[in-house]
Amino acid sequence: TETFESRPFEADVSRLLHMMVHSVYSDRDVFLRELISNAADACEKLRYEAITQPELLGDDPALAITLSADPEAGILTIADNGIGMSRDELIEALGTIARSGTRSFMDRIAEAEGKEGAKEGTQLIGQFGVGFYSAFMVAAKVDVVSRRAGSEEAWLWSSDGKGAFTVAPVALEEAPARGTTVTLHLADDARTYAERWTLERIVKEQSGHVPVPIRFIEKPGAEASALSDGAALWTRARSEISAQDYTDFYRSVAGQYDEPALTVHFRAEGRHEYTALVFVPGARPFDLFDADRKGRIKLYVKRVFITDDAELLPRYLRFVRGVVDSADLPLNVSREMIQDSPLLGAIKKGVTNRVISELAKLADTDAEAFGKVWENFGAVIKEGLYEDFERREQLLNLARFKTTASGEGTRSLKEYAAGLKENQTAIYYIAGDDAARIAHSPHLEGFRARGIEVLLLADPVDAFWVANGLDYEGKPFKSITQGAADLGLIPLLDTEAPPAGTASEEVTALIGALKAELGEEVADVRPSDRLTDSAVCLVASESGPDRQFERFLAASGR
Ligand code: ADP
Ligand code: MG
Repeated sequence: TETFESRPFEADVSRLLHMMVHSVYSDRDVFLRELISNAADACEKLRYEAITQPELLGDDPALAITLSADPEAGILTIADNGIGMSRDELIEALGTIARSGTRSFMDRIAEAEGKEGAKEGTQLIGQFGVGFYSAFMVAAKVDVVSRRAGSEEAWLWSSDGKGAFTVAPVALEEAPARGTTVTLHLADDARTYAERWTLERIVKEQSGHVPVPIRFIEKPGAEASALSDGAALWTRARSEISAQDYTDFYRSVAGQYDEPALTVHFRAEGRHEYTALVFVPGARPFDLFDADRKGRIKLYVKRVFITDDAELLPRYLRFVRGVVDSADLPLNVSREMIQDSPLLGAIKKGVTNRVISELAKLADTDAEAFGKVWENFGAVIKEGLYEDFERREQLLNLARFKTTASGEGTRSLKEYAAGLKENQTAIYYIAGDDAARIAHSPHLEGFRARGIEVLLLADPVDAFWVANGLDYEGKPFKSITQGAADLGLIPLLDTEAPPAGTASEEVTALIGALKAELGEEVADVRPSDRLTDSAVCLVASESGPDRQFERFLAASGR
């Protein structure tokens, strides 16, 4: 008919599909989680739209996801009575990739593929949100019938994943009354995905905490049974939730497969009422260093999903995943207005304080676990040292450093401060981009000889916060590659060595000669306590930027 159309996939989609079909991912089960999560999103979108347009729910207000299997025919369908898609939405949503960064994402997948990191590939799919296309990991053909809530049209999208898809109208009597039905014609090596035990296992493992009930029809004609009740985990009391429940929920909300490193679940009462259930991941999300530095906390109002775009945590905590459910925000608040709401500001403050204090608690009670968190996210948390002045003291207390005294481990500033030498007036650091190289810098000689600990700063972000004039317990941070070292008042560990601070006649003569020779090229030549074995070193002047910072600015073209 004239309304039947065949269209090519966008080039990026074709490439992605090719990767999906031709790579042997260690875990194809993820496709089901992705399709269930789309079905749940569709239900949550309808729940949200129905706040202002209750008629959209019609006579079918109970939102649900239904899996139906036909083991004989090798068919699995995932149906929802959510928002549905119009013809244009089908073409847009299932023929293109809306998210930015698609290319770099696919390069990462291609890279992960060759190595034993095949598992990383599947993890990336979930995190990136190209979930729908993962259906082609198990299906030779996919049919999607959809009818948008309130619409008098239904459409069939169909593809074998090989470069093109078709779109055609469907008679209303053959379409669901509302929502989307995805039918997978399973590939021969994937027919297990039409079997009861496989489906029960995967739903339990991956989708047990989706906030929409999931029903199961085992074979054509069978009665539906409940696989999951769709209750929101965060509304239950902590004492009723097992560690496994928390992990499962974390995995479904974060799209990651690791164990959470920290779980924070609390209910705020009093002036503002809300519940937060958030996690620090056990591994780095792949988009941690994206330029937009967006967080991904989901905001609910009375269990209705509103947005994952509200800034519920500061950017330097963007690795935290989870949900916040407010009892006070009006349900019909527009997504645009939310960001400016003072209520949201109060929630943000409360959740931020709680996450930071729980991190501090973890640092006190389980140094090893905290060390892992710091290794993964320390470079991000340090952005807070110059972005969040109010909390910089707490953040400095969380910070861990490689130092000349840390060996294989790390040291806190509290430990550093406890080891201060008499007359030591500053917390010394050396910054550079290569941790091994700075650890062998000649600038360290005089400090080592006096047993003075020096922080070894090798993260790019370090150049920013040290430039901010912070101090810790009244001691400023001071670069050892900048200005005079004034170590004269601190004795050498080896008392046999000649006293410092005085230059012999030969040295004075040498300095004179060097000054005459170098002329304008240097600001000064002076004797120094900072060296013991090396003859000379370069330092930046006291007033200008630190040498590391200078190099950084030069590199970033500023
Ligand atoms: P994401 O879910 O991250 O947006 P997907 O590839 O999983 O990426 O899905 C792409 C888009 O297709 C979704 O954003 C949504 O607009 C649409 N979509 C997929 N499945 C459904 C569904 N069951 N109901 C309504 N829309 C859907
Ligand atoms: Mg999805």
